[in-house]
Amino acid sequence: MGSLSFTLQLGTLMPVLLGVTLVRVLAMWHYASQRRVYPGFRPLMLAAVLVFAGMAVLMLRARFGDTVPLVILTNFILLGPDVLVYYGLGEYGRMPHLRARTLQNALFVVFVCLVQAADALLDPSMVRRVVIFSVAALLLTARIGLELPWRSRRRLPGMRILCFSYLITAGLQVLRGFNALAVPGFTMLTMGHGDVLGVYSVFYRILQSALELYVVFAMNSAMLEDDLQVATSQIERLAQTDALTGTFNRRGMELLGVEALHRSFAQNMPAAVLMLDLDHFKQVNDSLGHAAGDELLRSVAALCAVSLRKEDVLARYGGEEFVVIAPQTKLHEAGLLAQRMRLAVEGARFEVLGGARMTVSIGVAGAREGSLEALVKSADTALYQAKVSGRNKVVVAVGAGKDAERLAPAADV
Ligand code: GH3
Ligand code: MG
Ligand code: MG
Repeated sequence: MGSLSFTLQLGTLMPVLLGVTLVRVLAMWHYASQRRVYPGFRPLMLAAVLVFAGMAVLMLRARFGDTVPLVILTNFILLGPDVLVYYGLGEYGRMPHLRARTLQNALFVVFVCLVQAADALLDPSMVRRVVIFSVAALLLTARIGLELPWRSRRRLPGMRILCFSYLITAGLQVLRGFNALAVPGFTMLTMGHGDVLGVYSVFYRILQSALELYVVFAMNSAMLEDDLQVATSQIERLAQTDALTGTFNRRGMELLGVEALHRSFAQNMPAAVLMLDLDHFKQVNDSLGHAAGDELLRSVAALCAVSLRKEDVLARYGGEEFVVIAPQTKLHEAGLLAQRMRLAVEGARFEVLGGARMTVSIGVAGAREGSLEALVKSADTALYQAKVSGRNKVVVAVGAGKDAERLAPAADV
């Protein structure tokens, strides 16, 4: 009977890591050419490129031995990815003082490279170099694992688990450092063949590469979705806003107005609708031009807004007509509000009219139930009464709201 057994061997793991890293680089490069990527993406991609290059350098080193330039290059290229991962994840996490921290990391790597070069030049010791490398890698990876989740201002999917995976890398570095000290006559050869921890490190790196690829895409997608959400809500807001006056438009009035009415009625409270129309506005257009008319519309809208609460909805209903939907408002309160608005306009001197005055007429209707449409219709009928009875007036439609046809005689406020 045959038995199934698995053995991890560096000779097979290295090509797998090489392949996985290549796929990672190509996948990221392809993604970046198709989608918008955020500032952390490219450093993370470069980190993968460096890992790939690092393996090539390791092979060169196995062939040409520990020459000083190769020692420097290996340390630089194997520690470089940690600096780039720190920077890339930090960008995604909006970590404060990221550039300064990354500069610290980079200078630290340069320092380590110089120490290793001095070792190779003056008193070569493979054990010492492995220990120095392990300590350096430990510090860099621990910084990724501990500092990034702690200091990042933004939480993105997978980021914490990836940072945590670097803590395991740090743990492996500690073990490798101890191992180098414990194995007598530790050489490049033992590092390649007898070094079980080295083999597990490569195996772990393969798993981590897959995780890293997932996390970078997940983080980037999350940010794309966030941006999309912001853009969508901006578009939604624009679709509900009147471009000229900045008040709600008809669509916004319907959406928010219906909501406001429902809220009031659900609490057994009345709501009111005010319809406001500028008096003799056409004369402004005719005498001063359309642009002046526009300016006047903006000024009147701004003046009216001052009298409103934040829960009231002010909308431009059409040409020079505005509607206010006042939730949780009794009819007489709505009448007083309308009067305040009328007086605010009456009392103002408009620059665009050369300091002259302008007046408005307002129709008011209230209800404890019924549709927005019916309330607006009642308010419009009241407005008509205000117009025919001389303008610059507020007319409250008593008992309006249920049936526009049975509208009670208007009362002048
Ligand atoms: P009344 O007192 O009866 O309301 O008289 P009025 O002149 O204000 O009313 P009328 O309905 O006759 O005229 C409204 C004018 O508003 C006609 C139109 O040219 C103008 N108007 C409509 N929309 C706009 C706009 O967006 N900008 C400007 N400048 N004028 C507009
Ligand atoms: Mg008018
Ligand atoms: Mg009008």
